[in-house]
Amino acid sequence: MTSNSPERPTAVVTGASSGIGAATARHLAVQGFHVVLGARRLDRIEKIATEIGGTALSLDVTDSDSVDAFVSAIPSARVLVNNAGGAKGLESVADADEANWRWMWETNVMGTLRITKGLLPKLIASGDGHVITVTSVAAFEAYDNGSGYTSAKHAQAVLHRTLRGELLGQPVRLTEVAPGLVETEFSAVRFSGDQDKADKVYEGLTPLSADDIAEVIGFAVSRPAHVNLDTIVVKARDQASATRVHRS
Ligand code: NAP
Repeated sequence: MTSNSPERPTAVVTGASSGIGAATARHLAVQGFHVVLGARRLDRIEKIATEIGGTALSLDVTDSDSVDAFVSAIPSARVLVNNAGGAKGLESVADADEANWRWMWETNVMGTLRITKGLLPKLIASGDGHVITVTSVAAFEAYDNGSGYTSAKHAQAVLHRTLRGELLGQPVRLTEVAPGLVETEFSAVRFSGDQDKADKVYEGLTPLSADDIAEVIGFAVSRPAHVNLDTIVVKARDQASATRVHRS
């Protein structure tokens, strides 16, 4: 589904088919953006695009041909939300699953690199570009059995933070949003569809919702052009660190 609205600035959201990305697409549309939604599950993003008057484009951030086609189909961009990502598995280094590591590094790190590199010229040309990268508390902490994900999120974050210097003098803001526990499809993906295991992650506590994060992203985007919110860590009240939570 495509709906071009040249009078509205464009916001591109990767991983917009569920969770934080879907909520962010909806919030940015309410804030007046024409939103381009990218994800592999085209049926899902087409439905959201219809609802918000946006454009759905098939995107696999692990595939450079898919990224090239995605970027070419976007005439201009003012905001990029690097959100596509996630975790696979929870194993110690001694038991590391290389396929899981590759999935996490390809999606979170190389995916962010490909999309950002592809869209940067358009973001700069907009005269008021903004790159929001959704990292994680896992970009600040290491935790047992999580090294595949924590190392990928650290790398993704450093890629993003490097741009803050490299783009100094260019009209592009850079905001890193680092959430703690957010109840989305994240844990179902991490545990390969084992919903019982996924539900246990949020049991006995009040996690963040995808909307909570989308509102923070919307706030950062809506600041005046000279105001750069660099890093925003968002955790539930019930969460003190990546591994320390209160459950009732
Ligand atoms: P989610 O509901 O599983 O959403 C993940 C999104 O990423 C989906 O839209 C998925 O779309 C997309 N995606 C995955 N692989 C992709 C690929 N190869 N190409 C394009 N899109 C891809 O999880 P979420 O919680 O909203 O996660 C969003 C971001 O927040 C991720 O970067 C995650 O690491 C981060 N985060 C989440 C939490 C949390 O607790 N939930 C905490 C901190 C950070 P398709 O499957 O349709 O392609």
